[in-house]
Amino acid sequence: MMVQYAKPRGTADILPDQVADWRAIEDEARRLFAIYHYREIRTPIFEHTEVFLRGVGDTTDIVQKEMYTFMDRGDRSLTLRPEGTAGVVRAYVEEKLYGVANTQKFYYFGPMFRYEKPQAGRYRQFHQYGIEVIGSSDPRVDAEVIGLGDHFLRQLGIDTFTLHLNSVGCPVCRASHKAHLIEHLQPIRNELCKDCQSRFEKNPLRILDCKIDHDHPVVMSAPTITDALCDDCAHQFATVQTYLDEMGITYEIDKTMVRGLDYYTQTAFEFKEGSIGAISTILAGGRYNGLIHELGGPELPGIGFAGGVERLLLARAARQETVQAKDQVDVVVVAMGDSAMNASVRVLHELRKAHITADVDYYGRGVKGQLKLADRLSARYVVLIGDDEVSTQSVSVRDLSTREQVLVEQHRVVNYLLERVTNGQSEI
Ligand code: ATP
Ligand code: MG
Repeated sequence: MMVQYAKPRGTADILPDQVADWRAIEDEARRLFAIYHYREIRTPIFEHTEVFLRGVGDTTDIVQKEMYTFMDRGDRSLTLRPEGTAGVVRAYVEEKLYGVANTQKFYYFGPMFRYEKPQAGRYRQFHQYGIEVIGSSDPRVDAEVIGLGDHFLRQLGIDTFTLHLNSVGCPVCRASHKAHLIEHLQPIRNELCKDCQSRFEKNPLRILDCKIDHDHPVVMSAPTITDALCDDCAHQFATVQTYLDEMGITYEIDKTMVRGLDYYTQTAFEFKEGSIGAISTILAGGRYNGLIHELGGPELPGIGFAGGVERLLLARAARQETVQAKDQVDVVVVAMGDSAMNASVRVLHELRKAHITADVDYYGRGVKGQLKLADRLSARYVVLIGDDEVSTQSVSVRDLSTREQVLVEQHRVVNYLLERVTNGQSEI
């Protein structure tokens, strides 16, 4: 019996015909992030587990339930990154990038890993693009980051999202608010879902955002952190809103929204897109002023966002914004008979060295079959080499649009075709 190999649950093969859609997103991200002066950073796909699971521990699902953690052969606990921020901050601290310039702006691209229940828009290996600004708490930075998220989505033809905005405060205002919240929720503690019961003491803020408990009347009437901000946080929040208004960016204040990781402070935001069903958050982010210090760096603030490429693709497919993948070459080399093999191998290699896209049939098919390949690949020219051509050190070049055929000396064929084919476009 042949063994059937299948990809792991929650992963996907991105086939050549689909890559054009992925590249369109990646190319646009790179172009736009550079315009806003962000620079690419690439960090390892796995990190020491402590980079994600620090000190007192985190109460969020991502860290508690979703991480791919394993012991390597040296008995170290490693984790496949579930998100990009912690790794970027770890690199910033370890490489002492704060010594180069106070405020640094990064972007990244790559696979992330979470042990989740796979469904449309939710996978175990998925891909994120993201940005981070480390070193400034200026509310103009918050506005820039949110503005870039808005601009990026619109640039991709996605413009029916709503931007949800909140402030989750700082350790100062959160401490006093937490006491009030616990007092308010105490009477219904036993009615809450299992997760909320276990996060009750540590992070009751998350109960307001719980998918199961959020419409319990007592949860709905709970005091929000947004109404309990300290002066600094309230001022920051108000200023961010003023700047967004100046930029013409529309948003909704969403007082129950908290972020999926505990290190977030102040500004939190999510872009939600209705067209892709229940799992609708396509881009999300916020401030993380405590994280740099938590990872052993100086007391510097940070802010960023991350978005899932798969969900963008769903949103674009819903709008028919897909990119036509092309499977095309300019030239197909057709070899007829054994004596033509050497010349065809050489000519093909020389065409490619001159940056002419070219291919050949590797099935040993006859001339007819080889010409079919040229057809399928929408080639503009075929270069035919048979016994006659070999004996006269030439090739026959056929223009497939006019059906005209000319004899060209082998050493001239590259120049001959270069004059007629540029960047995949025939000049005639
Ligand atoms: P959700 O509420 O959908 O679980 P999250 O809060 O866990 O989202 P973040 O950690 O903020 O998500 O990640 C940012 C973005 O990455 C999400 O808005 C989404 O577009 C994408 N994303 C997160 N988890 C997945 C996943 N398992 N599969 C595909 N995309 C994902
Ligand atoms: Mg999640």
